[in-house]
Amino acid sequence: MQPRNPTRPIFVGDQRTGIIQIGGGIALDHPLAKGLNAPTEIAPISVQTMTAGYTYDIDKCVAEIHKLTTAGADIVRVAVPEKKDTQALKEILNQTTVPIVADVHFHFKRALEAIEAGVHKIRLNPGNITDRAQVEQVIDACKEANNGRGIPIRVGVNEGSIIERKDKQARAKELGAVFSDNKHGYMMAIMIAKLEEYLDIFYERDFYDIAISAKSMDASLVIDAYTEISKRFPHPLHLGVTHAGPKETGCIRSVVALGTLMANGIGDTIRISYANDPIYEIEDGLELLYTLGKRERIGAELIACPTCGRIQVDLFTLVQQVNDKLNADITVPMKVAVMGCVVNGPGEAEGADVAVFAGDRKGIIYVQGEKVATVPETEILDRLLSECKAFQEQVLSGAAKLGEKKVEIVPPDPEGALGSGWEKMAYQRDNSLTQISISPSEPT
Ligand code: SF4
Repeated sequence: MQPRNPTRPIFVGDQRTGIIQIGGGIALDHPLAKGLNAPTEIAPISVQTMTAGYTYDIDKCVAEIHKLTTAGADIVRVAVPEKKDTQALKEILNQTTVPIVADVHFHFKRALEAIEAGVHKIRLNPGNITDRAQVEQVIDACKEANNGRGIPIRVGVNEGSIIERKDKQARAKELGAVFSDNKHGYMMAIMIAKLEEYLDIFYERDFYDIAISAKSMDASLVIDAYTEISKRFPHPLHLGVTHAGPKETGCIRSVVALGTLMANGIGDTIRISYANDPIYEIEDGLELLYTLGKRERIGAELIACPTCGRIQVDLFTLVQQVNDKLNADITVPMKVAVMGCVVNGPGEAEGADVAVFAGDRKGIIYVQGEKVATVPETEILDRLLSECKAFQEQVLSGAAKLGEKKVEIVPPDPEGALGSGWEKMAYQRDNSLTQISISPSEPT
């Protein structure tokens, strides 16, 4: 894992919604740190999404924003294609408690109207708002907004919207030469050229509160493009794989691209895009950050085995039930392991705060490494959950600490009724029941 890239921070929100910092850590003597009077830490990576309904339908839009906020969205974006959408913004802002971004395409006036309504950030597309005088008007309005404190602008050079249509072949040749060794060379060069051209307008007007995105549906282009952009522009990066498709495949594409970039220190805010309810974008975005250790988990982390021919209980059903109950009842970031037998059960139980591993239609339950019960399969769910709740109470009262073990776990007798694990296999081997010979010098 590489350390995060420092950038000039932007701040999204107000006193009422709370202010979300994106990026940070730029040196104060950097030319693009102009106007910053104190150093900033790099902010935790934030998660955002976009409403799927019509913005002009105020009640439905507000309800959707509340749902997304409850799920953990740090920032929510809304589309404002028509004047009736920007007209709804003021009331939507009044009724919501999360920073709101207006997504503007084609019509610069929608940006001006959204700023007037009090929106916290604007997203502009250099591919479809190209008139310099119009861009300047939006920049000036953002500078004056928020009682003169200003609001930031995201410049999004998404692949689909910036492909140049005039003189395409000559342009491809010229720009493709810049990254001639990269299969995405032409597209990366267009994205960077567009950004340079566009950001010059911002810099000339002394406007630096900028975030950048360069999305594509191709995960490998997303990785390459953001990597190059991060070397050239010290602005926070909004990561995303656009039009990623249904949740099942979109999740893989997004996790590959965003996970790779974040592991390399690139990215300050993320949006996962699915052709599905945006609630999943928030859930999966948060899980991605938890998994990479980029954010402190809220609620339990469930560890479960995939099952195999050694399985001793109906684990799939049990895991689903445990997952649902943990999501409903547990808020502290405890590790809970549900394992099918003694092979990996003891090891995972050792790494978990609360654990069960199964054997002979029973569940052996551990808390902080200490065996607390052996229960029949039908009672595993209730007992495991009551142990999780009791452990949560102890953590909240300070009587127990997450990740602390009371004792080392000793696996049950591998030859006994519960045994089907590695020790038993080793026992069988050593007793010539199965002849296995592994020489350290043999290739494996
Ligand atoms: S814990 Fe046991 S049942 Fe689960 S996958 Fe591992 S060996 Fe198979």
